Amino acid sequence: MKTSLAFPVKKIATSKLSETDFSNLVFGKTISDHMFVADYKDGDWTDLRIEPYSPLQLNPSNAALHYGQSIFEGLKGYKNEEGEVIIFRPDANWRRMNESAERMCMPSIPEEIFMEGLTQLIDLDREWVPTAKGASLYIRPFMFATDDYIGVKPSDTYKFIIFTCPVGNYYSKPVSVKVETKFTRATEGGTGAAKTAGNYAASLYPALQAQKAGYDQLLWTDGKSHSQIEESGTMNVMFKINGTIITAPTHTGTILKGITRESVIQLAKDWNQPVEERFLTVSELKEALEKGELEEAFGTGTAATIAHIRLIHIEGKDYELPEKPADAFSHRVLAELDGIKYGTTPDPHQWIIKL
Ligand code: PMP
Repeated sequence: MKTSLAFPVKKIATSKLSETDFSNLVFGKTISDHMFVADYKDGDWTDLRIEPYSPLQLNPSNAALHYGQSIFEGLKGYKNEEGEVIIFRPDANWRRMNESAERMCMPSIPEEIFMEGLTQLIDLDREWVPTAKGASLYIRPFMFATDDYIGVKPSDTYKFIIFTCPVGNYYSKPVSVKVETKFTRATEGGTGAAKTAGNYAASLYPALQAQKAGYDQLLWTDGKSHSQIEESGTMNVMFKINGTIITAPTHTGTILKGITRESVIQLAKDWNQPVEERFLTVSELKEALEKGELEEAFGTGTAATIAHIRLIHIEGKDYELPEKPADAFSHRVLAELDGIKYGTTPDPHQWIIKL
């Protein structure tokens, strides 16, 4: 970045570091000392600052609480052996956040505010970036409406905040998924491509039903006919059938454009691994499972990077996936992405920034 944005930094009186057990981190429960905050009013982002992570004061008539103008991002930072902090593709999260903002009638965030807020915050809290293998710093930028007004209209004011959480290894074991053919995550013309709070609220009930039935996650299907696989709870999904990786395209606006998804597709292309961005139908998936042609199935997302799928439930039947060989694409791509993220592998696409 060319410029360095100056804003006030108010440091915490007593760091919470000494009372944090880094060997026992529960995802999203431990929050680092500081947060970056900016307020939007009169058409401008103002009052940029870093301050101790602390509760917010909101009026009960806060517009976001009632009508859900609320968007977020999720990305990670890693520490390399030299103690440098590496952040994976923050510019892609900035871009996606602004796409979400547009769909939800919220203001865009200038790149400089997003990037400087993020990097200065992480630099200040760099001791919160875990060093254990597989551990990382989860970074949560988000924006929400702050008008005190309960009429249904876009808010005139907003808050943009970034805070971070040290996290351990996510999804250590392969997951079981259920193909959902009753409930819908997103429909064409809806908000599926935006990373907005309501999408996640709407997914909780169906996901809970699936968990009660013994499955870890859902595989969402399209809202019209429930015949095509879309994505999973917080992951895009990929299937390797007869040597080709198939993953849902993003042009319908029903799928979140995962940054891990895009990175995996790029690496596949680099390695001459055939990839098709097209919808896989539930019947194709079933047929591939029955004929033993499904070689690999996995989710891609920031939290897990790659989540191996071990079982798929389709219309009353559980299909176990075969054990993957050590040189399976999903193992290779996970190792490559981990290498790039921890700074041990070259980064030909300039995905990382170092602090
Ligand atoms: N789909 C959904 C619905 C998600 O919430 C996420 C997590 N952001 C993803 C896919 C994966 O996106 P990414 O690879 O950018 O984390």
